[in-house]
Amino acid sequence: MPPSLDAVVVGSGPNGLAAAVELARNGASVLVLEAAATIGGGTRTAELTLPGFRHDVCSTGHPLAILSPYLSKLPLAEHGLTWIQPPASVAHPLDGQPAVILRKSIDATAAELRPDTAAYRRLLGPLVHHADDLIAEILGPAHLPRHPLRLARFGMPGLLPATVLGRTWFRGERARALLAGCAAHSILPLTRPVSAAVGLLFLLAGHVETWPIAQGGSSAITSALAGYLLSLGGQIETGKPVRALADLPASRVVLFDTSPNQLATVAEPVLPHDYVRRLRRYRYGPGIFKIDWALDGPIPWTDPACLDSATVHLGGTLDEIASSEADVWRDRHPERPFMLLVQSSLFDAGRAPAGKHTGWAYCHVPAGSTVDRTDVLERQVERFAPGFRDRILARHVMNTADLEEYNANNVGGAITGGVTDLGQLFTRPVARANPYSTPNPDVFICSASTPPGGGVHGMCGYHAARTALRRLAAPAV
Ligand SMILES: Cc1cc2nc3c(=O)[nH]c(=O)nc-3n(C[C@H](O)[C@H](O)[C@H](O)COP(=O)(O)OP(=O)(O)OC[C@H]3O[C@@H](n4cnc5c(N)ncnc54)[C@H](O)[C@@H]3O)c2cc1C
Repeated sequence: MPPSLDAVVVGSGPNGLAAAVELARNGASVLVLEAAATIGGGTRTAELTLPGFRHDVCSTGHPLAILSPYLSKLPLAEHGLTWIQPPASVAHPLDGQPAVILRKSIDATAAELRPDTAAYRRLLGPLVHHADDLIAEILGPAHLPRHPLRLARFGMPGLLPATVLGRTWFRGERARALLAGCAAHSILPLTRPVSAAVGLLFLLAGHVETWPIAQGGSSAITSALAGYLLSLGGQIETGKPVRALADLPASRVVLFDTSPNQLATVAEPVLPHDYVRRLRRYRYGPGIFKIDWALDGPIPWTDPACLDSATVHLGGTLDEIASSEADVWRDRHPERPFMLLVQSSLFDAGRAPAGKHTGWAYCHVPAGSTVDRTDVLERQVERFAPGFRDRILARHVMNTADLEEYNANNVGGAITGGVTDLGQLFTRPVARANPYSTPNPDVFICSASTPPGGGVHGMCGYHAARTALRRLAAPAV
């Protein structure tokens, strides 16, 4: 008897659901199994602190989702997803001078970056001009580029360490700091090749679409994907951890929205020993320490322009940010860490009771760290927003162990599916012509541990589903 299901997807993060949707849109019968009680992986929203304060447990800023060549084509608005775009993408406060603001207009952004106004335009202008092609290339799997010259304009400076690009292309601290803050999303040392590419990608994204948040919280993204999947006849079961092959119902193919570790553990009996060994050698990189705050009012930034953006990069100059990120890679906990802070209730009133606000921030920490960084993080906010602590009504903290317990994909507290350096950028989780496939023709991996990597964009799921669909099109044996 052939199995009644075409595909089982293990995990309901944005990539798992994107994979399930693509399979179902192409006529496959699909079941998604999720370990947790609710769907969503890195996109859940919950009352973590006080009643009425809705916090994004993980992701909040979604430049890659709104620009995703796949998600942007799906009818997610019909299933409840509304993007909210604040006036600016990023605010980056600096000591003793106005904050740097990443605005959609290159000219408006560049005007505030003196003495690098012209240099910034020269760097970003050509990229923005070809943004659609570039984003499709960057979020695609490793392939021969369709627009090699355009890609070279991105790839040549992108291959550099962010410190080198920042110090050679720009003369002033303001443009350097803006680049460094965006590059630090890579969770790489900024002295390492390719860290500049991440900075350029986030800057480019901000000039195409102001980084949005999802109305009501990030769970709206995966709720919309799930709603669409159900409308296509797909099924989802929560509270179903897959720990062994015996936990899987019969199906023609299985796609794992999991870490390489879990793929190795669950599918070990049906995968060659060498492939499993290589999965186990996968590098996850540093973790994070995150705080969610319930606040009595908006964050009292010294420069009120910081209230224009949901995302704030805290960490000062390029030199400071580079030094704090280098410390983390040396297993140290920097005293003034680079921090990513979000303040979404400023633009989405439904996330907190009237007049109150939510905020979260994280800093990078060595993998597996359980050091409490609350005081260090709050001091760094106070540096740019004196009086901040007086506004805190309640807080909720997660160290790397909490993050991994919350979602087994956050191995050692790593949040982007693994290190995205040259050694793993295109060859995640294992070097293969098609990284979504495994040596077993019926087993696939679709999580952020495949290209193009971390972030909410669904592209890993989409590419894995396209690969699995080719297998499903082959005659069943
Ligand atoms: C604190 C934090 C902040 C972030 N901020 C942003 C941001 O602002 N913007 C952004 O774009 N990205 C952000 N990210 C990254 C983003 O959330 C992830 O890159 C993205 O969610 C990865 O999607 P995924 O589908 O690959 O995996 P996940 O979202 O991790 O989902 C995997 C799902 O699979 C389930 N699962 C795992 N193993 C099993 C199993 N064995 N059986 C059954 N189910 C299983 C998990 O429970 C989980 O629900 C953030 C992440 C974190 C943790």
